[in-house]
Formats: sequence, C-alpha cells, structure tokens
Amino acid sequence: MERHVNMAEISDGKRYKSTDMARIGCNECEGCSDCCREVGSSIVLDPWDVYMLEKNLSCGFEGLLGRHLELNVVDGVVLPNLRLLENGEGCTFLDEHGRCSIHDFRPGFCRLFPLGRLYEEGTFSYFLQTAECRKGNRTKVKINKWLGIANLAAYEKFICQWHYLLKEVQVRAKEMDEQELRGWSMYFLQEFYVRPYQGDDFYGQFALRYEAAKEKWRNQ
Ligand code: SF4
Ligand code: SF4
Repeated sequence: MERHVNMAEISDGKRYKSTDMARIGCNECEGCSDCCREVGSSIVLDPWDVYMLEKNLSCGFEGLLGRHLELNVVDGVVLPNLRLLENGEGCTFLDEHGRCSIHDFRPGFCRLFPLGRLYEEGTFSYFLQTAECRKGNRTKVKINKWLGIANLAAYEKFICQWHYLLKEVQVRAKEMDEQELRGWSMYFLQEFYVRPYQGDDFYGQFALRYEAAKEKWRNQ
C-alpha cells in the first residue's frame, strides 16, 4: 500500500541500500510483540509472501484464507493481508510466548520493520521509520542481514516489478467502471496468489506471469 507521508517527519531522512547499516537491531525484540498486534489490515502480502507460507505450511491459498489471511481492497484492488485477532491478540502466527511461529518464512513486511520501502523512479530504497519501534538503544545492523532473504537481488527485482505493475492498475482504478476493476482485481488475485507456484523457482514463474500481465495490460 502506498502511503503519502512526510519523510522528514517519519524517518531519519536517509535512503539506504541493502548493503548499508541502519539502526534497526532490537535485541530480538526481548518479549515485545507490539508490531504483531493492533495493526489492523496493514500487513498486506505480496505473491512471494503467500508462496513462502504455502510452501512451508504445505497448504494452498484457500487453506490460508480465513484462518491466517483475509482479503481487503487496497486502492481499488483486492489483496490478501495477515488476519489479526481482536482484543490485542494479534497475528494468528504469534505463539503462546508472543513470538513469531513462522519466523523463518515470515512475510516481507515483517522482515522489514522498522524499515520501509521508498519507491522512486522505477526502483526503491529502504528508509528507517524512527518512531515505529518502541525499543530504545537500537543497534546498527546491515540491512541484508536483517532481511535474511536468500537471493536478495532476485527478491528486490521482484519487489520492484510487483509494486510498479500493481501501481499502474491502482492509479487507473478510479477511472475504471466497477466491472472492469473487478475483472483486473480477480485476474491479479487468481494469477499471482491463488494459482500455485510449483517447486522452488518462484522468481522464474513470477516473471512469466508478470510478462503475461504486462501484455494483457498493454492490450486492454
Ligand atoms: S515494536 Fe520493535 S521490539 Fe517490539 S516487536 Fe516490533 S520490532 Fe520488536
Ligand atoms: S507473521 Fe510473525 S512477525 Fe509477522 S505479524 Fe505475524 S507473528 Fe508478527
């Protein structure tokens, strides 16, 4: 989801690359799970997030929906997000000790926090959200280590392609009639989330679906 914010107010004003150090280390959260609770529907998932959940939990999209995920409209397009329980119980993946039970395959949004992504001119950089994490005395950690994502170059390329493709549809969403918008929304949901990715080559399969979607978008 794109937010319109004043970067000077919410960040330290710097743009980071994955090889930079940033003050993000929180001593493994030490009993805090604040950012896994009371965050509404804000943890929106991308296709890689859902692929990782399906692969590691050995289930399909339908198996996740309702129990761990829900669907909401984001800037006109239907997208999945983590389902949070009420009364501060938070994410359904929190265990009884308030720890993430899917740490090794948690979504990209969770890996980033308290970093954010700033999209500009067809690419993106990382930025540090200075008021989001309540832990003080944060230590400096290299961003690629913090993210802990294998083949980060392929992941970052995917993130860019997905963001800008989705944005094209979201920008045009206000001009589309209801039927057209529903058609695009269902196409994205089906092609990028519901249709399973086979084996380990997520990026190769995403690239094919991305090219097909771009072609369909060009020929509309
Ligand atoms: S608010 Fe900070 S310390 Fe608390 S769970 Fe989130 S990242 Fe960890
Ligand atoms: S997936 Fe893990 S890190 Fe992300 S909100 Fe849920 S419990 Fe927290």
